[in-house]
Amino acid sequence: MESQLKEIVAAAEATIEEVTTSRELDDFRVHYLGKKGVLKELMKGMGKLSPQERPQMGKLGNEATQRIEELIAARKVWIKSRELDVRLKQEAVDITMPGDAFEKGHLHPLNLVLNEIKEIFIGMGYKIAEGPEVDTVYNNFDALNSPKDHPSRSLSDTFYINEELLLRTQTSPVQVRTMMANEPPIKVISPGRCFRYDELDATHSPMFHQIEGLVVDEQITMADLKGTLDLFAKRLFGEKTRTKFRPHYFPFTEPSAEVDVSCFKCGGEGCRFCSYSGWIEILGCGMVHPHVLEECGIDSGKYSGFAFGMGLDRITMLKHEIDDIRLFFENDIRFIKQF
Ligand SMILES: [Zn+2]
Repeated sequence: MESQLKEIVAAAEATIEEVTTSRELDDFRVHYLGKKGVLKELMKGMGKLSPQERPQMGKLGNEATQRIEELIAARKVWIKSRELDVRLKQEAVDITMPGDAFEKGHLHPLNLVLNEIKEIFIGMGYKIAEGPEVDTVYNNFDALNSPKDHPSRSLSDTFYINEELLLRTQTSPVQVRTMMANEPPIKVISPGRCFRYDELDATHSPMFHQIEGLVVDEQITMADLKGTLDLFAKRLFGEKTRTKFRPHYFPFTEPSAEVDVSCFKCGGEGCRFCSYSGWIEILGCGMVHPHVLEECGIDSGKYSGFAFGMGLDRITMLKHEIDDIRLFFENDIRFIKQF
């Protein structure tokens, strides 16, 4: 029995270093010291010993138990410090590691083109004028010489807030506000959001963007208007761009014209982009109607002016060959990223 005890202790001493985790140490303890462990099993044999041998054997058994408990205690300290090391390593922050790069945002394509257009007109001495998106029926229609029965006034074309207020259908009310608040000379462009009752499709949106321009001073003529827009088209679409003015009708200007630019893809030869016409329509314009000047408190005998308006969405689509207006408002990062 004594030699068996020594073997058990020797086995414990030989294998304790294989124990590397708290869980394995528990198993180790159960194996040697548990109720059904090898020591207890061996000591059950004490009953067969003579009364003289028993105390000696009991003492050896206690010593063996104590020895194995010491092994376990020492290993426990070792395992705790090792587990702490591992945890510290896992939780350590490596301050030399490069951080996650922040993705830089950038301007929306509409804003990029708007900024370009603003720069061109600011370079010609224009100021930027802005106004509210909810404006009066008077500013949006009446002051602009729009007949009471004009179809654009109908409920199916305009979002009314009530009888006197609406979501502006154009940025022209900003021109009205500017003329009412300022004495000529006036030289402004007014970019902004507009709203019309339109079904959403590839080329129409109930919300869209306009940029209008207004110049009022003494002796302003159609030649000033043509020169201004011709220079604008060359700056925006390239020096070789030519412009063409076609007679048109708007209630707030007289005479009125629509302006085409020579196709900046084919240079006017004709291509798919310009429907083989060589020309692309970009804006409407005209000499401010004397009724509009008078309505806004400006002496039409002394002053004259011109106005023009263009769709920012359409010009951006042309410049960047975007074929669907909905892409501007869906905020799909894969689209926005391309600009
Ligand atoms: Zn073309």
